[in-house]
Amino acid sequence: MEAIDRLRDLLGQVVDLNAAQAVLSWDQETYMPNGGLNARAQQLATLGQLSHERFISDEVGHLLEELEPLAAELDADSDQARLIRVVRRDFDKATRLPATLVAELARSTAVSQQAWKGAREESDFARLRPHLERVLDLLRRKAEALGYEETPYDALLDEYEPGMRTARVAAVFAVLRNELVPMVRAIAEHPVPDDSFLRQEFDQQRQWDFALRVASDFGFDLERGRQDRSAHPFSTSFSVNDVRITTRVQSNFLSSCLFGTLHEAGHAMYEQGVDTTLERTLLAGGTSLGVHESQSRLWENLVGRSRPFWSFYYGLLQREFPAQLGVVPIDQFYRAINKVEPSLIRVEADEVTYNLHIMLRFELETALMSGDLTVGDLPEAWNEKSREILGLTPPDAASGVLQDIHWSAGLVGYFPTYALGNLISAQLYERATLEIRGLEDQIALGKFADLLGWQREHIHRFGRKFTASELLRRVIGSDLDAGAWLAYIRAKFGALYDL
Ligand code: ZN
Repeated sequence: MEAIDRLRDLLGQVVDLNAAQAVLSWDQETYMPNGGLNARAQQLATLGQLSHERFISDEVGHLLEELEPLAAELDADSDQARLIRVVRRDFDKATRLPATLVAELARSTAVSQQAWKGAREESDFARLRPHLERVLDLLRRKAEALGYEETPYDALLDEYEPGMRTARVAAVFAVLRNELVPMVRAIAEHPVPDDSFLRQEFDQQRQWDFALRVASDFGFDLERGRQDRSAHPFSTSFSVNDVRITTRVQSNFLSSCLFGTLHEAGHAMYEQGVDTTLERTLLAGGTSLGVHESQSRLWENLVGRSRPFWSFYYGLLQREFPAQLGVVPIDQFYRAINKVEPSLIRVEADEVTYNLHIMLRFELETALMSGDLTVGDLPEAWNEKSREILGLTPPDAASGVLQDIHWSAGLVGYFPTYALGNLISAQLYERATLEIRGLEDQIALGKFADLLGWQREHIHRFGRKFTASELLRRVIGSDLDAGAWLAYIRAKFGALYDL
């Protein structure tokens, strides 16, 4: 057998094992009874170990060496050359981590996530502190093992946003912060729009049906995907032809199911749009968390919270909920779903203030990694940053430093990708608007095929073939920056708030 076929065969098995883990995790979050928890943890650990061992095997290492000359001869952008390059990158990372460190991280983060739950319930940071210290120690060791050019944080960031650097994120965030902080202060001087009508009783099935109808209109293919309920919405992929999303439905708040579904559908359409020739290789799937988030934010915010979109869908929504929305004019509805208000909780933040929550976390987690900040000083540092950036002081740790699970789960370097996703979504949308004639008119008619087709053509089909930076250069001719997003925010919210 040719080396490349043998490599594909081995990687196919790795992909299968990973997909089986994804199915088990999806089931755990949707249908599994609580009693299944211990057995499920065991099953996931077994599959994870098998997949890891198969991937870092000597045979994969030898095949990669054997294939290096071939990769050099091939067109650098061909599927095969890219496959070899991406597998080499993943392989080097996976083999640099000692098995004992991987196991210790898995154990410590499991324990510290448990501790986080208790600490958050009691709003008592001291209960989490020793666990978080342990996790951060292990993450520092992980960064050393992976290697980095400038700062240990680079190594962790690279896990979620390959090729991105801490200094670059810091530079982009500085631009954002300079403009956003005064903008949010200016908005705060205006009266807060009334959105109380979004918080009435809404029939759950009707909410579900409406949201899924829009997702399907967007182009989420229900022949190759489905939606279920879970406590926290997510999307996951078992293959290009089987992509799942979950949502949560609150009877007393309309936005939760609706925008949650549009967000996850954006993620799912990315996975469904990967070229089928990449199926069962390590190239299937999103290229980075930032690019993934750009796809969800594009559909959720740039389309789903836009005026043209609602000029088509608001009448339909009113027909579903005549008692609740029948007398609410569209402009009032549009203002309500775009209400800007500095708040303490990231996951409830609006489009304008969301990135401020990310900056706060980025500044703190880079300081924790570099040793400039100790875990013991973290709660006070959090409150100080919150005052500085959001103008708010959390009344307790639960609504401050303890609100997110990420750090206790070992996910340091992950937060920035949410903000990068917002920025990339605006860069891509700006380009799509230039290239698709009458895009806004199409959206106002409930037609999305051209937009989705554009994304497929320029982003989705490539899977992991190109890094985020390479993709952006191909599509818009330049790299990540904050300009397009700031222009979008200035235009939209300047008009909404008369700035
Ligand atoms: Zn997302």
